[in-house]
Amino acid sequence: MKRFICILAAALLVSSIAFARGFGDSFTDATLRLDYIFSGNATESSISFLQAYRTSGWAGRRGNLDSLLLAGNGRIEVLDPESGEVLYCQSFSTLFQEWQCTEEATHVTKGFENCFQVPWPKRKVNVRVTLTDNYHSVKASLTHPVDPSDILIRPLKTSCPWRQIRGGGNHAGKVDVAILGDGYAEKDLRKFWNDATKTAEALLSHEPFASMKDKFNFVAVAAPSEDSGVSVPHMNSWKRTAFGSHYDTFYTDRYLTTSNQRAIFDALAGVPFEIMIILGNTDKYGGGGIYNSVTLVSAGHRTFRVVTVHEFGHAFAGLGDEYYYDDDYSDNYPDGVEPWEPNITTRTDFASKWEDLVNEGVAGLYEGGGYRSKGIWRPAENCRMRTNECEGFCPVCTRAIIRMTEYLTKN
Ligand SMILES: [Zn+2]
Repeated sequence: MKRFICILAAALLVSSIAFARGFGDSFTDATLRLDYIFSGNATESSISFLQAYRTSGWAGRRGNLDSLLLAGNGRIEVLDPESGEVLYCQSFSTLFQEWQCTEEATHVTKGFENCFQVPWPKRKVNVRVTLTDNYHSVKASLTHPVDPSDILIRPLKTSCPWRQIRGGGNHAGKVDVAILGDGYAEKDLRKFWNDATKTAEALLSHEPFASMKDKFNFVAVAAPSEDSGVSVPHMNSWKRTAFGSHYDTFYTDRYLTTSNQRAIFDALAGVPFEIMIILGNTDKYGGGGIYNSVTLVSAGHRTFRVVTVHEFGHAFAGLGDEYYYDDDYSDNYPDGVEPWEPNITTRTDFASKWEDLVNEGVAGLYEGGGYRSKGIWRPAENCRMRTNECEGFCPVCTRAIIRMTEYLTKN
């Protein structure tokens, strides 16, 4: 009998070692939204916690909870306070970090709103937010406790009407995309619903999304603006809109973004989504997409469909720009550091990129990309991440999108 107990104990030990935490061990079907201010300048970064919210349902992934597919420029992790074990993590990039590379950041310190969603923890947890620089070095880190029974966590539900415009349900097995509009006044809302449908169609008609269309859900959320159109500062045209989007971000005329993340997440509270696209109600060319952050596109320009796919490539799959300028424009991708973006390389660690696809004869290695004509290589002569005229994504970008889709939808 004693021997039997020993065998039983050994069997239990083995099973506990082999036991991997599932979603339901640590989380329930709700969302913890965490708001921060990231602030700093060209050389310094800091993180301040602002506020926590509870919203209904969890539309994010339920598998691969403790692993990252891409490093990004930062990450948010939910940790077991006793063991330090990572229960959930998510990587991202930010407008703040792009701004840190501008001339303005050399002489002023600014703060930017950043909001994140993590699954609702069953017990007290620690949350750690980390920002890294272009050398992959940690620039700022903040760890703070979150108690799910904290009475100051505010419950929140959107006041905007929203519709499932494609797919629906099975949020764990699908990528849930939310489409919002900025600069759509009440009188423009019919146009918004149409533009949102066109956006979903544009993405799903483009490979490799077309072959994986059953893996995507789309919702449209109608947040009315006071004015029609979005702000164009270089034309002294300012509009009062739901999310304050504007051109001339960092004084680049076609760079259309918004830093009003809290207003965006308020509009999305309780809406099943894990990635968003914001349509600017304008026919002026422009857009912007940041990995696991905001995608903004001009809904009225003739290039709307391809620009949407390009910007979604940044936001969804962390793809880098494959275009460059004649002069070495930027220090975004320093020599001797392998960028984390899957489709550009400094050849510092090419084996971790698409060397296998070169050996198979599927992809190539072309110098110029990531805003630099020398010292950075891309996989193809042309790609959706290089020009609007190109037919589609190169094989490396295609593989990156498929991998991200599988990572997010595996249970
Ligand atoms: Zn590509």
